[in-house]
Amino acid sequence: MTKLRAKKIFGILREYYGKINSQLSYSNLYELTIAVVLSAQTTDKQVNSVTPSLFRNFPDFKKLSEAEIREVESIIKSVGLYKTKAKNIINLSKMIVAGYNNILPNKIEELLKLPGIGRKSANVILSMGFSIPAFPVDTHILRIANRIGYIKSAEPDKVEKILTEYIPEESWIESHLLFIKHGRVLCTARKPLCSKCPVNQLCDFVNILSNIS
Ligand code: SF4
Repeated sequence: MTKLRAKKIFGILREYYGKINSQLSYSNLYELTIAVVLSAQTTDKQVNSVTPSLFRNFPDFKKLSEAEIREVESIIKSVGLYKTKAKNIINLSKMIVAGYNNILPNKIEELLKLPGIGRKSANVILSMGFSIPAFPVDTHILRIANRIGYIKSAEPDKVEKILTEYIPEESWIESHLLFIKHGRVLCTARKPLCSKCPVNQLCDFVNILSNIS
């Protein structure tokens, strides 16, 4: 990989997919944070199906911090790992209210102290919630970074480091969204549609396949 190649890939994907928004539905930092915690190991669509009811009943950290766990569980039970997630979002809300004066922190070190928030989730909150440049590495990003040839690694932290070296900071947020879109539409886990891919001329995976055949 070179910075020039990374720049070309970004430009091509940007032109191909256009402007991308997050697939999670939220209208403020509270809703984003809760939606992000709920989204672990499930689809954004599934999360979006339960959050309207959750946010109607518990519209902010304060209300959610006072919630009965059973009630929260019953609202989010169609989402995977709902028992753990119900506990996490209530405890997280208690911490925000009691420890942060009801204001979500915008520092990764502080976000990582909250229940249910790992590095990827913290980076999503920073980038989507605060517009602070960050590069969350989820399963799509991990796969695409390896296939295209930014790095060969299954470790999200290493992938994040290399992507943030090759891609300029001002493009991190958009690149993250473009890669996720690309992972859902063409560079899918099981069967990537390489012949239709706009960056196939710049992708190591295609070269490897053509060398094998
Ligand atoms: S050429 Fe294939 S493997 Fe490479 S980015 Fe495109 S879809 Fe993914």
